[in-house]
Amino acid sequence: MTAETSPAAGARIALITGGSRGIGRAVVNRLASDGYDIAFCYRSDEAAADLVAKEVTALGRRVFARKVDVADRAQVKAFVTSVEDELGPVAAAVTSAGITRDNPLVLMPDDDWDAVIRTNLDGTYHVCRSVIFPMIKRRGGAVVTLSSVAGVAGNAGQTNYGASKAGIIGFTRSLAKEGGRFNIRANTVAPGFIDTDMTASLGEKVTAEMLGRIPLGRFGTADDVAALVSFLVSDQAAYVTGQVFQVDGGIAL
Ligand code: NAP
Repeated sequence: MTAETSPAAGARIALITGGSRGIGRAVVNRLASDGYDIAFCYRSDEAAADLVAKEVTALGRRVFARKVDVADRAQVKAFVTSVEDELGPVAAAVTSAGITRDNPLVLMPDDDWDAVIRTNLDGTYHVCRSVIFPMIKRRGGAVVTLSSVAGVAGNAGQTNYGASKAGIIGFTRSLAKEGGRFNIRANTVAPGFIDTDMTASLGEKVTAEMLGRIPLGRFGTADDVAALVSFLVSDQAAYVTGQVFQVDGGIAL
């Protein structure tokens, strides 16, 4: 897929990983509505990515979409380079690509540990590592990483996922400390249960149990998360960095 060009050239550029579905897709649409030109990547679902690219074009923004495995450092580097060549410098990076491979630790296949850490934690590193130097050179940028309540409080059956998401919090806070003097802000969003494909396979029993624990009485929507991301990358959040924001309907209370 190549960049679609529109008269909107000159807009700020946002790069979103995992932009083809779920929270990433909502962030793509929200930031395009906010006036950003959009670069996003996905791992496999080309049809879903094509649909999202069309949505961005319909909003009058430029879009650059690529099939990129965020766990693969070389692919990520090449992606970020082509984004900067095709669209321009990345002002905002949102790392939403993520996977789960749930199992109690005693049954955890090594491959599932590796896949989750490589995609969620290494993937976040690869993307931020690739955008950070250009942001330092330009003395500005906003990074939003996606953690989870499982990374804050832990969750049985998710030692791999919880470790990756807790790692993302430490990573982001450290990046905030490093980036401040270059006017680079880094924040984490930690969703609770959000209605996406990732939570679609929870059984009826688990779903009912979780709903009972959520004071707001519903799962969140991807748009609930995208609204916060929109604020965090914007100039309205100019004095906000190094924070972890839970979007969880109060489940952690
Ligand atoms: P989702 O609906 O399953 O979508 C995942 C997205 O990530 C898809 O676009 C997928 O692309 C992409 N992706 C997966 N692996 C990738 C890889 N190796 N390289 C590039 N792209 C990859 O997930 P979601 O619910 O939107 O979750 C988004 C983020 O929020 C994740 O980091 C997740 O851990 C976090 N989160 C979600 C929830 C929730 O309740 N949904 C709660 C807490 C945190 P393809 O479709 O092409 O594979």
